[in-house]
Amino acid sequence: MMRGKRQDFRCSFCGRDKSDALVLVAGLDAHICEVCVEQAQEIVAEELYGGLNPEEQPQPEAKKTGYDFKLPKSIIPTQIKEHLDKYVIGQDAAKKILSVAVYNHYKRLSHPATSDDEVQIEKSNILLVGRTGTGKTLLAKTIAKFLQVPFAIVDATVFTEAGYVGEDVESILSRLLQVCDYNVAAAEHGIVYIDEMDKVARKSDNPSITRDVSGEGVQQAMLKMLEGTDVNVPPQGGRKHPEQKLVKVNTQNILFICGGAFDGIEKIIARRTNTKVIGYGNANKKQIKEDDMLQYITHRDVKRFGMIPELIGRLPVISYLKPLDLDAMKRILVEPRNSLLRQYQHLFRLEGINLVFTDDAIQFIAETALEYELGARGLRSICEAIMTDAMFDLPGHKEVKHYCIDAVYAKSKLEGGMLEVLRAAA
Ligand code: ADP
Repeated sequence: MMRGKRQDFRCSFCGRDKSDALVLVAGLDAHICEVCVEQAQEIVAEELYGGLNPEEQPQPEAKKTGYDFKLPKSIIPTQIKEHLDKYVIGQDAAKKILSVAVYNHYKRLSHPATSDDEVQIEKSNILLVGRTGTGKTLLAKTIAKFLQVPFAIVDATVFTEAGYVGEDVESILSRLLQVCDYNVAAAEHGIVYIDEMDKVARKSDNPSITRDVSGEGVQQAMLKMLEGTDVNVPPQGGRKHPEQKLVKVNTQNILFICGGAFDGIEKIIARRTNTKVIGYGNANKKQIKEDDMLQYITHRDVKRFGMIPELIGRLPVISYLKPLDLDAMKRILVEPRNSLLRQYQHLFRLEGINLVFTDDAIQFIAETALEYELGARGLRSICEAIMTDAMFDLPGHKEVKHYCIDAVYAKSKLEGGMLEVLRAAA
């Protein structure tokens, strides 16, 4: 009887008898020996930390020194806008407002307020409203590059209130720390673009009694950070690395630019301004009128949409981006410094080929992106579909020195359901 029982005390993983094991840990219905514990630990370390134990993980080192921020020499708002014009088509209203807000922000940094100053320039975080793919991120990115400050893009939808599934809002700053190689002083002068801000709107204008984990809670959690405070940031972001040491980042001088499509806000504006979205029965006309409505946007409309007043107060500058029309699409293809068509021409030039796009090809590409509702982002997928064969074949034909893409050629490359595929992927 005794002997039978003894035989049961073996490692349930490798079968080692208790007498052969140094330690045998008992579970509910099983045992595990010290050798299997070690092996299991290695497997876990491999899976989660690429082979290192959590304590062995190299911790990114926070550096406080070594950042000397200077505004590019005697820069003025008109120069900021001129620079934006080189990369972003249209959107004049947003460019102007953004240029002034950014200029004031960095002027404030170059002239830090003393306690004797009567006037303190407040931070001018910015809210950009406009459909997806109209250039909100591009504007923020272009400005940051111009000023040579660290820049990070984060998506508001991945955040939740502390303690819930998802990332804590503090990790908004993790991305910024990462792009400037954990130089805290540099990060503290950076720009953060928070995308999809409208997705954390609360669902109704009335403050709800129940807790709204995904929306209002996130807005509440962002307040202090947008205003300016010390935030303890997980340098590697997220929750995957609970052992990481937090890095203190002060957000007083970080410029936050928030963007969102705010779908349906035109109706709210129309109601407030007592105007009608007119043109029923004529799809084009209605579109134009709706598109025009955004220029009248105010903070009241954004509040109606579901942003809490405290958050709106911390985004004092608001602007809008127009939906892109056919003309804007065509210009996006050719005008920006690094426009899509210029990029293909450059690639072909490296092969010794002069690449030309005819006007009707440009018209066709822009029309197709609009018709299939692919937006400006879709221009790239359309061009790739058109250009792939040529990019595949031509490097083998050294005798070709000139190549022309016209509408007929472009159309032929998009036949056979290609556009449906692109639309599904958009
Ligand atoms: P979103 O408004 O959704 O932030 P993006 O700025 O990310 O849009 O735009 C997506 C892409 O479309 C950009 O990388 C750029 O290539 C192109 N694009 C969109 N709007 C413009 C514009 N106004 N001028 C030039 N390119 C644009």
